[in-house]
Amino acid sequence: MRVLILGGTTEAASLARQLANGTHFEATLSLAGRTSAPAAQPLPTRIGGFGGVEGLVRYLEAEKIETVVDATHPYAAQMSAHAVAACRQTGLPLASLTRAPWTEQAGDRWQHVSNTESAAMVLGEPPRRVFLTIGRQELPVFASAPQHHYLARLIDAPKGERLPPDLVLLQARGPFDLAAETALMRDERIDVVVSKNAGGDPTYAKIAAARTLGLPVIMIARPDKPAGHVVTSPAQAVQWLDHVRRSLRGV
Ligand code: NAP
Repeated sequence: MRVLILGGTTEAASLARQLANGTHFEATLSLAGRTSAPAAQPLPTRIGGFGGVEGLVRYLEAEKIETVVDATHPYAAQMSAHAVAACRQTGLPLASLTRAPWTEQAGDRWQHVSNTESAAMVLGEPPRRVFLTIGRQELPVFASAPQHHYLARLIDAPKGERLPPDLVLLQARGPFDLAAETALMRDERIDVVVSKNAGGDPTYAKIAAARTLGLPVIMIARPDKPAGHVVTSPAQAVQWLDHVRRSLRGV
């Protein structure tokens, strides 16, 4: 069965590995192309946007895709909306691989905000030393709060966007561990962390490190993402795919 995986996450890569090891699925992994050197994958990979819902519908039809798994990041709401619309138009089954959000633990000092602009605003007037772990695309938002010192961790350096003046870039790809995160925040004299609620293990250490150091975390809320049939792990996605395959093939 021909499967399209919308990726860009650890779970998508894990699902790709599981499908590559089996014999029932011919899967393609799709990446947006945000990182210049994406990790190697064991499946055919296509890179770049489809061109909206219409472009995705054209791709699904041209490639004779029979089912879609949306394994995009919890903050990639547009791609998920397009997947729901395109699968509705084409009548294809769609599963959405969702990751449970992190929840506050005793000792956490989270301040919840609804978007990145609010995160920049609630940093306040007095200059602070901020650890920004929100990726590259929304860094320019913090140019509106230029009084702070920012340490921004990202996979690829920004290109040509307007950035806050006092910014140090740290290029790194997770997973990260607690000892290293705690040492980084201590050495850099960080006094506040700005994070998305990504969920999952690979990037959780910064949250635990902030707790250990007694630091506040400004937590940007997840967007509402439209979804198909919800699955919560790559293994569940494989089970669902198998179920769809059996019903399509009548076996
Ligand atoms: P987005 O806002 O939901 O999508 C913007 C546009 O990027 C989509 O309309 C689509 O372009 C293209 N696109 C997104 N994901 C794609 C995919 N897997 N394959 C092909 N095209 C894709 O997405 P985003 O927040 O920019 O995220 C981009 C990618 O980075 C996603 O793959 C996501 O899983 C990954 N990621 C995002 C975050 C985050 O914080 N947002 C964090 C980690 C990883 P067209 O309309 O032209 O088809």
